[in-house]
Amino acid sequence: MFDLDSYHKANTVDEAIQLLAQNPKAIPLAGGTDVLVRLRQGHPDYRHVVDIHDVAELRDITMATDGTIRVGAGSTFARLMTEKIVTDNIPVLAEGAATVGGPQVRNMATIGGNLCNGAPSADCAGPLLVLNALVVLKGPQAERCIPLHEFYQGPGQVDRKPAEIMTSLLIAPDDYRCWSAGYYKYAMRDAMDIATIGCAAACILEGNRVGQLRLAFTVAGPTPLRCWKTEEKARGATLDQALLQLVRSSVLEDLRPRDSWRSPKDFREQIIRTLAERVLKKVLSPCGVTL
Ligand SMILES: Cc1cc2nc3c(=O)[nH]c(=O)nc-3n(C[C@H](O)[C@H](O)[C@H](O)COP(=O)(O)OP(=O)(O)OC[C@H]3O[C@@H](n4cnc5c(N)ncnc54)[C@H](O)[C@@H]3O)c2cc1C
Repeated sequence: MFDLDSYHKANTVDEAIQLLAQNPKAIPLAGGTDVLVRLRQGHPDYRHVVDIHDVAELRDITMATDGTIRVGAGSTFARLMTEKIVTDNIPVLAEGAATVGGPQVRNMATIGGNLCNGAPSADCAGPLLVLNALVVLKGPQAERCIPLHEFYQGPGQVDRKPAEIMTSLLIAPDDYRCWSAGYYKYAMRDAMDIATIGCAAACILEGNRVGQLRLAFTVAGPTPLRCWKTEEKARGATLDQALLQLVRSSVLEDLRPRDSWRSPKDFREQIIRTLAERVLKKVLSPCGVTL
């Protein structure tokens, strides 16, 4: 079966942290859809695991009285697709979750695992970046909270310190109320395929102008990326064809797509420009704006 050197099961977050602190070689195992694949490939970094799959407190999805949404890092994609707090308030996250793998993967794979593996293709990253999500991490000494864009440090690298567990994602009410948001995943196949490019957008309007635009891409750089320069240029722009042209012509300044076996760089650049325009139109449509 699996060539493990050590396996420990945690029932609480604190127990998981303690087990990780006791064995610096150990990594958390949530849904296992990345870890068990690597283990089967014989990867040496995955031979000591602390199983957090059944830690109930990691699965809570709640809304505080001030409207802040807390999504437990152990929430599966299947749950995110149907949980009312998500579908009613931050449907862009349910939209991203629905594009992951197939039903079997979505029943096991968690949002925390999707972020902690540091993959540039993570389908929940784009939606969470445009929701300005904060990542909550708990370690042996303290709990800390950082913006998701700071959590990503490089390909496969995230700001998770030894023995830390990602416990949840926080989304503030000002980051979803009155915003229109959407996600589009371009992949070679409609299911069971990693994104060639993923694009998420969110906007808030002020009359016939853009109040704020947020734009994020996956597989368009070493990590999922926000398009800060394009967002700044779009602020205050009138809602017309020039806005689409502005976004289309600016977006590559924010990104660093590359060649890979999945797609050549120039094809990715073409898809990025197309998706920037398409997803922007998609998020403007519920606001009654057709461009
Ligand atoms: C067939 C198949 C199809 C797939 N399709 C897609 C797809 O379309 N889109 C996509 O984005 N991904 C896809 N994936 C990748 C994978 O399913 C996701 O990345 C998934 O979200 C990983 O979650 P998990 O719970 O299974 O993580 P695990 O495999 O358990 O863990 C992944 C990593 O995160 C760490 N980790 C997990 N939880 C925590 C935590 N709470 N705190 C700290 N560290 C943690 C682990 O130690 C490990 O390093 C696919 C995988 C397979 C096998």
